[in-house]
Amino acid sequence: MPVVQHRRTGGGLVSFFTPIDTYSQNQIKLILGLINRRRRWKKHHLCKATWAFPAVMILLLLVSACGSSQPAQSPNALPVVATTALMADFVRNVGGDLVEVTALVPPGAEVHSFQSTPADSVALSRAVLVVSNGGELDGFLGPLIQGSLSKDAVHVVAAGPLLAAGETDPHFWQNPVFTIKYIEIIRDGLIAADPENAAVYRANFDSYKDALTKLDFDIASTLNTVDPARRQLITFHDAFGHFATRYGWEVTAFVASDGGEVSPGRVVEILEQVRDQGIPAVFAEPQFRADVLQNAAQEAGVEVGTIYSDVLDSEVTSYIDMMLFNAKSLARLLR
Ligand SMILES: [Zn+2]
Repeated sequence: MPVVQHRRTGGGLVSFFTPIDTYSQNQIKLILGLINRRRRWKKHHLCKATWAFPAVMILLLLVSACGSSQPAQSPNALPVVATTALMADFVRNVGGDLVEVTALVPPGAEVHSFQSTPADSVALSRAVLVVSNGGELDGFLGPLIQGSLSKDAVHVVAAGPLLAAGETDPHFWQNPVFTIKYIEIIRDGLIAADPENAAVYRANFDSYKDALTKLDFDIASTLNTVDPARRQLITFHDAFGHFATRYGWEVTAFVASDGGEVSPGRVVEILEQVRDQGIPAVFAEPQFRADVLQNAAQEAGVEVGTIYSDVLDSEVTSYIDMMLFNAKSLARLLR
């Protein structure tokens, strides 16, 4: 019986982009060097340029370009609701101090089985902008919005265009190129809800887009240290298909992308095959119980690492931290 329950090959939506694993380590180093030089140039020149601007622009540009200090949030900050902590992080990066973001799914909680509370309806009723992922991920929002959302509020679905292109796996952020598509939608949502500050949202977007481009190459650079024969991510739920396509990995998941139940028998069966193939580690996701996996892995002599799919917690507090943590975790245990 094959190990793989769900294996991604290329094609589909991702074929619009070059998989980054076609770059050599030297090319990646060169590109990272260029990105870093451009960021340093922008930071230096934008910070210097602010002295020529009126006082209010100085404050706004310092927030978006220099980013060294975090002024207190304005009492007039735009109330935004995002379904998950990752979505909230994207909104904070594009909205900066002009927004006050509430994530409906609490830190570390599993999104696919999330049950809303009355407090969520209250937050939604105050929101000027609502940001969801879309697809199978945060379908709980649909019934909640009915009757809670003010008629003037803007709702954007970050994965909308990607889903409309026919891709069904909703975990698009596992490929930073797709995350750039998300933040375009979020930028446009912020501008629709608060057109007066459009220039700030555009500037913040540009900075964060640069950071995501750098992230993409940093991940590729870290993953390039893994022997191609060991580029196999075996984890709990099927959330890493877009990651796999981008970086040239194979993914095996115990359960489908909506995070359903897994039988202990299935775990043991997969781990035995993992051991037979000489793969040294499998990966648990913090939001799913790992005891069955831990026990079976110990039995099979396979290590269990950590990988983040859908949540942030005290260990990884931002999307960029999460993606770098994952790349380092894979490289350390599979190298
Ligand atoms: Zn998921």
